[in-house]
Amino acid sequence: MLNIGGLSGCIILPSSPCYDEARQDYNSRFNKYPKVIVYCNHTKDVVNAVLWARREQMPFRLRCGGHSYEAYSLINCGLVIDVSGLQAMTYHKENQTIQIGAGHRLLPLYETLWNEGVTLPGGTCPTVGISGQTLGGGYGYLSRIFGMTCDNLLEVEMVTAQGTVICANESQNIDLLWACRGGGGGSFGAITSFLFQVHPIGNVVRFRMTWEFSSLRNVVQVWQAWAPFTDPRLTSLMALPSKNQGDLRASGIFVGTELELRQIISPLLEAIPPKSVEFHTLSWLEAAKQIAGSPLRSETFKSTSAYAYTPLSDAALDQLTDYLQNAPGQANVVSLAAYGGAISQIPVQATAFAHRQPLFLIHYQSYWAKESDADKNIRWIEGFRSSMLPYTRGAYQNYADSLILDWSDAYFGENLNRLMHIKRKYDPDNLFCFEQSIPLG
Ligand SMILES: Cc1cc2nc3c(=O)[nH]c(=O)nc-3n(C[C@H](O)[C@H](O)[C@H](O)COP(=O)(O)OP(=O)(O)OC[C@H]3O[C@@H](n4cnc5c(N)ncnc54)[C@H](O)[C@@H]3O)c2cc1C
Repeated sequence: MLNIGGLSGCIILPSSPCYDEARQDYNSRFNKYPKVIVYCNHTKDVVNAVLWARREQMPFRLRCGGHSYEAYSLINCGLVIDVSGLQAMTYHKENQTIQIGAGHRLLPLYETLWNEGVTLPGGTCPTVGISGQTLGGGYGYLSRIFGMTCDNLLEVEMVTAQGTVICANESQNIDLLWACRGGGGGSFGAITSFLFQVHPIGNVVRFRMTWEFSSLRNVVQVWQAWAPFTDPRLTSLMALPSKNQGDLRASGIFVGTELELRQIISPLLEAIPPKSVEFHTLSWLEAAKQIAGSPLRSETFKSTSAYAYTPLSDAALDQLTDYLQNAPGQANVVSLAAYGGAISQIPVQATAFAHRQPLFLIHYQSYWAKESDADKNIRWIEGFRSSMLPYTRGAYQNYADSLILDWSDAYFGENLNRLMHIKRKYDPDNLFCFEQSIPLG
């Protein structure tokens, strides 16, 4: 018989009516059955949950937005500590910082910040949680001007493995702050609040262009020589759907005027005239909402990533084309996300986020509806990633992939040793652990 004495917050058990909803992460490929899910409303609930898990010797996971690609925020036969109820928020106008509870999701956060005339660079999905997003880096359409989400992190409050509440900033627990800037979620303790630097924002210009699939090679060649090096006020992505699944699409957000953007973008436009081109000047919030689209409750998918540190060669483009021509389903896409700009201005060892110098991130994605399509899509993703390994390096920890065997090096590169050292200091008993948590050594 489970003794839940000592837990506080909203406790969900397998017998609770909302258990099936509560045990779902965003990726519906996974079906896990926790013993207890506790929705925390206060830091004290998180403390109680960690102490309870220790006492009961119950393995646990931390969850914020539940968007881990591999559902690492869920566990079979264990406890899920859900921080989504930590919703405090205080804006400090004088120094443009914001203190927020660890449970916020991206779009509501952008909306609140917009009312103050500021924003935080973060991802495009409206329902991704701020905790996982920040701790694993955080890339979005403002990253080339304002950096990764983690680059804007000034302070965290964290519940440790001993159940104590500590603060990490530039004057105390400096090493922990370093680790929280991209060292991945779930390894050191449970973050209960964040302090961020935010940035003034108003109107932006959004652009979109399309080309036929047959232009793929030329389009990628031109885009990769331009997007990572262009004006840092422009962050641009390229979507390459597989053959017969729509046009190639470049898109981006520019913090400036349409006239300036048209000049900046002319190398791309002139090199390969697109099928369609659109420019729209609109508020940053409206742009974020348009990019987010209608929020989905879940999707079934397998995705992975790798970084291009050098331009994709002819041989790499052959592989890319070949895989996109032979996709197994109806929703297979590769997207390229331009780095450079503010991301590359920070030295590799200055934060745990190690991938400062790639040209772009390659994001391999596959979605399906029927269970019977799962295997071929997963094989396609893994085959694609493997075939591109000679031309790529590392992977993005926020696009967790259980099939990357050397994941710790791929995600953290030369920062792994320091992360393991910090892990031993703050969580020597490895209480905060999951399949891809920072190892003790
Ligand atoms: C549809 C979709 C779109 C995405 N778009 C983007 C994008 O545009 N840019 C981008 O950079 N990423 C993007 N991502 C990836 C996303 O940033 C990561 O999956 C991120 O880790 C999700 O955070 P979460 O809090 O929602 O997830 P969760 O599954 O709740 O958590 C992710 C990890 O962090 C840990 N964790 C959660 N809360 C805490 C806490 N309070 N303290 C310590 N550890 C914690 C969890 O245990 C887990 O290991 C996207 C993901 C999806 C599914």
